[in-house]
Amino acid sequence: MARRKKIYEGKAKILYEGPEPGTIVQYFKDDATAFNAEKKAVIEGKGVLNNRLSEFFMTGLSQIGVPNHFVRRLNMREQLVRSVEIVPLEIIVRNYAAGTMSQRLGLEEGTQLPRPIVEYCYKDDSLGDPLVTEEHIAAFGWASQQEMDDILSIALRVNDFLSGVMLAVGIRLVDFKIEVGRVFDGEFPRLIVADEISPDSCRLWDIETGQKLDKDVFRRDLGSLTDAYTEVARRLGVMPKSSTPVSKPTLIN
Ligand code: 5GP
Repeated sequence: MARRKKIYEGKAKILYEGPEPGTIVQYFKDDATAFNAEKKAVIEGKGVLNNRLSEFFMTGLSQIGVPNHFVRRLNMREQLVRSVEIVPLEIIVRNYAAGTMSQRLGLEEGTQLPRPIVEYCYKDDSLGDPLVTEEHIAAFGWASQQEMDDILSIALRVNDFLSGVMLAVGIRLVDFKIEVGRVFDGEFPRLIVADEISPDSCRLWDIETGQKLDKDVFRRDLGSLTDAYTEVARRLGVMPKSSTPVSKPTLIN
């Protein structure tokens, strides 16, 4: 088989040229990074879990009419996605204070916010993805006013969907990050959800115990990240038992 052309390698994923024009193969690595890659580790199985979880969330979004890049899963670690022109923003939606918002505003982690708050960060690792306002976005032309309206509406719809799905399995959606990209179906661009939706980019807390089931487990050394993500996948019914590796060969009569 001919070697595939690598388009981009990020901290958690590799993008390869897809089999048809306008498609990309998204490969989920086991690498975990935090604090702008100052902390690094290889977490066995993370890529497989995130591939399945992102498929689950993107498929659910398609079912409620939120357009996104997911086409189909190819194998344990890869999915076929639509290629997009990425908008250089991290779109963060928060339902409860945590992380950088708690630090910035002196709010105790877990404080319920009066309503979902949407924040924007400029996607630039060398700058540490700084928080920006809509003024910066308009002035530097990162997205048009119409696109900003669409981004807000998409972000809040994703929040409603994810909050509901999580609540149903006893998990509180504290916050999450999405990215969007432009696709050209004809003359005009439209925005779709891109990148991934997984516990790498969400804060997920068990409603009963407050146990963290997301990347903060790695960031803050709170235990096994694989166990946390597996628990999320198990509750959502995402990892069928048959996909767990069989340790011994079994005799078939
Ligand atoms: P915070 O700004 O509190 O660090 O993050 C807010 C939310 O956005 C968290 O759920 C966090 O996981 C997610 N997030 C923020 N920046 C990034 C990033 O660069 N990569 C990923 N995967 N998630 C991010």
